[in-house]
Amino acid sequence: MNTPRRSPPAPPRPMGQSIARGFRLRCPACGEGAMFGGYLKVNERCPACGEELWHHRADDAPPYAVITVVGHIIVPLVLAVEMAWHPPEWLHLAIWLPLTLVLSLLLLPPLKGALIGYQWAVRMHGFDRSSDEYDPVPPSRRAVQADAPIA
Ligand SMILES: [Zn+2]
Repeated sequence: MNTPRRSPPAPPRPMGQSIARGFRLRCPACGEGAMFGGYLKVNERCPACGEELWHHRADDAPPYAVITVVGHIIVPLVLAVEMAWHPPEWLHLAIWLPLTLVLSLLLLPPLKGALIGYQWAVRMHGFDRSSDEYDPVPPSRRAVQADAPIA
């Protein structure tokens, strides 16, 4: 009786290193290639090592992380400044709104990169080639196929 062949388990990936590389906007696999081709657009492949990066499913997790981090920075500062100096409301708005916006925009790419580094390290979604979610066709080629007429 034949037993189905199983592929050997994939070797573990260093999670801390992968997250740190993602936070630095680098490929989690090699740490050299740029993860992003735009402000938040993830390259399909690492330009340095060719690692498939299109398997990420960051979705709306990075904004949640940014809200959490920025909230934990801004809210205590607002409270501390209010308790210490009682500045007028217009001054609060003039300080905290731009600071919140700038911090959020600055933190969004690194936190998205870190999340993708985590997904890569634990082989989530298509990063696991033995997973049902693994799709060897990158999104750019999928879009072309979706537009093709049905034969
Ligand atoms: Zn790479």
